[in-house]
Amino acid sequence: MELGATVCLPRNPACGDCPLSGRCIARKEGRIDRLPVKAGKTKVRDRYFHYLIIRSGGRIWLHQRTEKDIWRDLYQPPLVETTSAATKAQVARRATDLLGYQPILEALAGPVRHVLSHQVIHARFWTVLGRS
Ligand code: SF4
Repeated sequence: MELGATVCLPRNPACGDCPLSGRCIARKEGRIDRLPVKAGKTKVRDRYFHYLIIRSGGRIWLHQRTEKDIWRDLYQPPLVETTSAATKAQVARRATDLLGYQPILEALAGPVRHVLSHQVIHARFWTVLGRS
């Protein structure tokens, strides 16, 4: 039985038909109009990740996430995060701080949308071709 959908309806619970009525705290305390407390809606944040794919000598650069953030301690390609969808030129400029030079980028894949409980990641992957 789907209790929440058929018996314990938010506006009109059928307590007389409810198999849990003997143990229901809301009914026992006369608070069926107030329990359960509805949780507030979770605010979902959009994040824009730009992964830089850097290959050298048959290897690929990886970076360990150490920040107090999602995926802590996992490895990933070097990452630039922007506050909105960014152009290739904007990503290249932002990558300068990370790499120590302004890279020449080529779009590899994305945007890929990855939905987490509180965040939506919009990920793009860029191949670093060299320095500009
Ligand atoms: S007894 Fe409790 S759980 Fe059952 S319908 Fe009433 S309020 Fe809901």
